[in-house]
Amino acid sequence: THATSAELIREADARSAHNYHPLPVVVATAEGAWMTDVEGRRYLDMLAGYSALNFGHRNQRLIDAAKAQLDRVTLTSRAFHHDQFAAFCTELADLCGMEMVLPMNTGAEAVETAVKTARKWGYRVKGVPDGQAKIVVAGDNFHGRTTTIISFSTDEEARRDYGPYTPGFEIVPYGDAAAIDAAVDERTVAVLLEPIQGEAGVLVPPPGYLAEVRRITERRGTLFIADEIQSGLGRTGRTFACEHEGVVPDMYVLGKALGGGVVPVSAVVSSSAVLGVYRPGEHGSTFGGNPLACAVALEVIAMLRTGEFQQRAAELGAHLHRELGALVGGGAVQAVRGRGLWAGVDIAPGHGSGRDVSEALMERGVLVKDTHGATIRIAPPLVISKEDLDWGLEQLRTVLDV
Ligand code: PLP
Repeated sequence: THATSAELIREADARSAHNYHPLPVVVATAEGAWMTDVEGRRYLDMLAGYSALNFGHRNQRLIDAAKAQLDRVTLTSRAFHHDQFAAFCTELADLCGMEMVLPMNTGAEAVETAVKTARKWGYRVKGVPDGQAKIVVAGDNFHGRTTTIISFSTDEEARRDYGPYTPGFEIVPYGDAAAIDAAVDERTVAVLLEPIQGEAGVLVPPPGYLAEVRRITERRGTLFIADEIQSGLGRTGRTFACEHEGVVPDMYVLGKALGGGVVPVSAVVSSSAVLGVYRPGEHGSTFGGNPLACAVALEVIAMLRTGEFQQRAAELGAHLHRELGALVGGGAVQAVRGRGLWAGVDIAPGHGSGRDVSEALMERGVLVKDTHGATIRIAPPLVISKEDLDWGLEQLRTVLDV
C-alpha cells in the first residue's frame, strides 16, 4: 500500500525544517508541462521550478544526454580534467559572447562567486585599496540565501536572525539609474542587478534603465554584473533579459535552467580580463563543472543555440500578456508585469491573497506560486502548448471569477 499525499505531507512536516510553505500537492511524476501527484491527479505546471524547468520536465534531449553521461563518468572533482569540461566552457562562453567560465552548482554559489570575482578584480586590476571594495545592489533584490547575499537583502524575513552581516554593499532603489550613479565611487568594483527582479514580483525596470546602468558602469570603470539566474536562458523571449535593451554586461551569473531541470548547474561567465584574476587554490567547488552537469548543460546550450525556445517564449509570452492584460481593471487583477513567458499578477484586495488564489488554482489543476502576499507568479515551461496555456488561463479567470 502506498502512502497518501496527506500522509506524506504530515511526515515531511514532522521531519523537515519549515523553511518553505509548499502548496499541499505531492508530485510523483512529471513530463513536459504536466505533473502528476501520488493519487494520480494531473496538474499544469505554470511555475517551472522558478525557471529551472524552462525546457519542461524530463525533456527527452536532456534525459538522453544525462543517461549517456551516467554510463560514462559522473564525477571527477576538479583535481583532474574530464572530457566534457572544455566543450562546456567554450560553448557557454560563446553563447554569452564572453570568454571564460567559472562553473558552480547553485545560483547562490554563482552569485557568491561573482562577488568574490568582482572584489578580486577590484584589488588586482582596478587598484582598490585592500578590504575597501564596494558593490552597489538594488533594493528588493533576490540573489540567494547565503550569509553574504542576505546581508544585502532588503527583505526582513530573509535577513532576521542571521547577523552579523557582511559589509561592503550599498543598496539603492531598483529602477533608478541616477541613484546608481550617485552610489558608485572609486572603491566600487561592481553594480549587481537582476535585469528583471523575479522574486520581487517580476518587476521590469523602466525602459532605458539597463542601458543607462551600462553607460554609468562603463564611464566609472566598474563591473556591471547581471544576475540572469531566473531571467536568462530563454524565459523573456531572448537568451538574456539584458538583450531587450541591447545591453551586454561585464559578467553574467547563470543557474536554474542551465541544468535543464536535471542537475544543479550554475556559472559565472565573463571576460578573461575579469575571470583571469584567479590562481589555483583561490576558489572552487567539489561538484562545480562535474561531467554530468557539463553534459546536460551542453545539451541545454545546444537547444538554446537554435533560438526556438526564445521564439516560443516571445510568441506565447505576447499571448500570455495580452490575455492577462485584459484582466487588469476588471476588479480582481490590479496589475500585471513581466516579459516573455513570465508574469507577476497582483490580485486586488478582496479577491484573496496570492496564496488563496494559488490554492484555488491547485484545486483546478494548475500550479503557480504566490510571492509577497498579493502576487502570483506565472512562468510555465517554454515548451508548454498554446492550448495548455489557454486552459491554464481559463482556470485563472474562473478562480478570479472574471
Ligand atoms: N538569483 C536570482 C535572480 C534568483 O532568482 C535565484 C533563485 O530564485 C537565485 C539567485 C538563487 O538561486 P539558488 O536558489 O539556486 O541558490
